[in-house]
Amino acid sequence: MDSDEEGEEYLFKIVIIGDSAVGKSNLLSRYARNEFNLHSKATIGVEFQTRSIEIDGKEVKAQIWDTAGQERFRAVTSAYYRGAVGALIVYDITRHTTFESVKRWLEELNTHSDTTVAKMLVGNKCDLENIRDISVEEGKNLAEAEGLFFIETSALDSTNVKKAFEIVIREIYSNVS
Ligand code: GDP
Ligand code: MG
Repeated sequence: MDSDEEGEEYLFKIVIIGDSAVGKSNLLSRYARNEFNLHSKATIGVEFQTRSIEIDGKEVKAQIWDTAGQERFRAVTSAYYRGAVGALIVYDITRHTTFESVKRWLEELNTHSDTTVAKMLVGNKCDLENIRDISVEEGKNLAEAEGLFFIETSALDSTNVKKAFEIVIREIYSNVS
């Protein structure tokens, strides 16, 4: 976060975590560029993307980080988490194992963070209702137990993607302003 004579400017680092193939990269590309990739390979090279929103007449920049496939090796580096003030913890509503991993991701996040982090539990791929494996209720209960916001999204059809990021950004803003 910076300030100058013109007014305040805000820059928030947000990380996206969760098992491989839950849709992290597509949530980010949908939010930052309105793009979706059906056959996305692990993103190479791209560390983060930014998108700005206006809150209280101020420009608030979200710098959103993608793991770029590191999670396949269970080795997301501490640099990834450093300075993060927001996090989306993503699972795939059609694969129970990805839901079971949420606790481990939360532990890793907590280990690496030294400030208040606004956290959103995200059940992605809600367009795949016919093969749903985790109910909305289960997602809600876990979020409540762990003190997280909760939302279901679809990076494919855009459902709630903007909302998921913006709830986190607004929560961070209210934490610091
Ligand atoms: P990541 O490994 O967590 O970054 O996941 P990706 O964003 O690479 O997505 C993994 C696969 O899931 C890709 O084939 C995507 O096209 C697909 N995918 C991602 N989000 C959605 C979604 O909301 N709905 C559906 N049906 N497929 C999705
Ligand atoms: Mg990815």
